[in-house]
Amino acid sequence: DKANGKQVVIIGGGITGLSTAYYLEQAARAQGHSLTITLLEADNRLGGKIKTDEIDDFVIEAGPDSFLVRKPQAVELCRELGIDGELVGTNPHNKKTYILHEGKLHRIPQGLNIGIPTQFMPFATTGLLSMGGKLRAGLDLVLPKHQQKGDQSLGAFLERRLGKEVVDHMAEPLLAGIYAGDLRKLSLRATFPQFEQLEQNYGSLVRGMLAQAREAKAKAAVPQQPELGQKPLPNSVFVTFPNGLERLIRGIADALTQTDVRLSTAVEEITPREEGGYTVRLAAGETLTADAVVLTAPTFESAKLLPQELVSGSHLTQVPYASVATCVLAFDKGVIDYPLDGTGFVIPHKEGTTITACTWTSSKWSHTAKNGKVLMRFYVGRAGEEAIVDESDETIVARVRADVKKIMGITAEPMFTRVARWRRSMPQYTVGHLDRVKTFVDQAARDLPGVFFAGAGFTGLGIPDTIGQGKQTAGQIVSFLTK
Ligand code: FAD
Repeated sequence: DKANGKQVVIIGGGITGLSTAYYLEQAARAQGHSLTITLLEADNRLGGKIKTDEIDDFVIEAGPDSFLVRKPQAVELCRELGIDGELVGTNPHNKKTYILHEGKLHRIPQGLNIGIPTQFMPFATTGLLSMGGKLRAGLDLVLPKHQQKGDQSLGAFLERRLGKEVVDHMAEPLLAGIYAGDLRKLSLRATFPQFEQLEQNYGSLVRGMLAQAREAKAKAAVPQQPELGQKPLPNSVFVTFPNGLERLIRGIADALTQTDVRLSTAVEEITPREEGGYTVRLAAGETLTADAVVLTAPTFESAKLLPQELVSGSHLTQVPYASVATCVLAFDKGVIDYPLDGTGFVIPHKEGTTITACTWTSSKWSHTAKNGKVLMRFYVGRAGEEAIVDESDETIVARVRADVKKIMGITAEPMFTRVARWRRSMPQYTVGHLDRVKTFVDQAARDLPGVFFAGAGFTGLGIPDTIGQGKQTAGQIVSFLTK
């Protein structure tokens, strides 16, 4: 067996690195290879951007708060780990979401599907758009489809189909929030490739969305039965765990039986060895040898580790990352009289607030606050407006509270506050991103055989996508080692 005794080093103990280790162990076991797997994490904890704090009556997420069910990789992994039965969905009684417009919160019109209207009446009556804006959006039904050869920006695409108002007032706050980015710079193909497909297949985004909704409904009419032994999932678009997303990290870590996981171990350099394979030098001076190396750190970190002549000017050094921070306000029972009857609200750029979005956390997720307490979480910072992230906790909290007062009229003193800074955390998939990734990966396969790249800076930054990348990379490593 060619793979036996081979050494694999995985750099990064975030969700991508952990998933890679998990699926590599699975594949090696299934195929009877005995690999030596080492996972190196610079921080003193696993999880990377996934970080939960349980404080008194509260479950507080510093980073992501949930993952999509529709993309199957995360749910599948939970099933394999036997923790799917713990998953919880959003509170079914508080499904409304709002958008701030001219200082007031407006409910998102029903049928608005990732920024695209699919129901006439709620859209026709919403206060979020002028009459002109609504009529312009209607042109989507008749405008000819565009033959676009290469990639284009998400913002330009949506504006061409639905008009500027829909983009600025609705799509931008809803979609840009996911990437903390600028819709007019983000790549359509790397973010919402399905929009381009809908235009091509149906000649209209609205018609395409409607057709999709009909299909989904037809499917839902025959409820998907869990397979034998599987528990049904919560009926929710997003899911998490009652004690937070770090449960997933623990679940994977506990399942690793053959991986040597080393915390507080930063990698400093990876150099090719003459006899093949690589030398991995750690910050503490120690070196490891590896037949295959997987880099899952943010691209600008990975770029520092490799021979500069191979990475300078490549994808690795080109991905811009935006900085964001989350700010949590926790309130005692009964001090808030604002009806928090939904999941929260998002804010278009034009409103000029410090906060870019607000989650009414305890309304959206019942498990996050006990004994009648109230938890809210705010986002600050986005591409091009990142200075706020470097302000002190006091300044961030004060600016958040000023917005909270202006928008919801809430002046109550929080029990406590928490700020989590995520500097250079949100990779921006700008126009042409996927082409640059492909060029880089092809070049790396030639120049750095046995070095693999995965993680949020590549082909998907949501939790399911990063798990999917880990699984795919594990498969590639096994093929490489058995070649
Ligand atoms: P990371 O989590 O960044 O892991 C990389 C790891 O590599 C880190 O632990 C780092 O310490 C380590 N490392 C770096 N350099 C070295 C080195 N030299 N040596 C050793 N180790 C090193 N996604 C969702 O699906 N749902 C959400 O609700 C959601 N919300 C988000 C909210 C915020 C505020 C942020 C920042 C992201 C959010 N995301 C969300 C995206 C998602 O959380 C991330 O894309 C994902 O967790 C990234 O995982 P990763 O393993 O690729 O990278």
